[in-house]
Amino acid sequence: MTKISIESVRARAESDAKTFGYYLTPDPELLQGLLEGLKVNEDRYGYPSCPCRLASGNLQIDRDIICPCDYRDPDVAEYGACYCRLYVNKNFYEKKGELPTVPERRPLDKQSRAFMAATVTESTAAGKETKPTETTGEKVSMEVKSKLWYCSQCGYVVFREDAPYVCPICKAKREMFKEIKTRIDFLG
Ligand code: SF4
Repeated sequence: MTKISIESVRARAESDAKTFGYYLTPDPELLQGLLEGLKVNEDRYGYPSCPCRLASGNLQIDRDIICPCDYRDPDVAEYGACYCRLYVNKNFYEKKGELPTVPERRPLDKQSRAFMAATVTESTAAGKETKPTETTGEKVSMEVKSKLWYCSQCGYVVFREDAPYVCPICKAKREMFKEIKTRIDFLG
């Protein structure tokens, strides 16, 4: 597989920030580290999963944390930066001072499932016997049931487990997404 260059990762992040009115973090070391993390993840998994979160390597499970993740827009709106602080608002960009601490918005069940999937993958790769694990005392379902969703504001359609927090096209909130239910009739 061809590896992505760090320049391409940077150009994509800059372009995305510009499109949505954000800025890349003013901290050069943090910026470099996050861009490198995105590159490593993209080279490893084939998609740029969040450099601050554990990815499972399963696209369906990781879909909500592919950068820019589902949580970026609500986090920038509420805290002025995304969870990693790669994307910040104008205020934090111009202050060039301390960046905010952003709490994790990703639901715990999704974090647990990613952890489980990553653990199973690593154990399998190491040739170890795998057995069901319980992290928080609760059983973690590894199943991803994808559905079809459409944004009732702009018509954007996506096939995934749950509707995104924010529509990536028109920025409508999750409440504007409706599930598309399909029915197949067999004649004859
Ligand atoms: S928190 Fe979201 S937007 Fe920020 S670097 Fe991670 S995936 Fe990207």
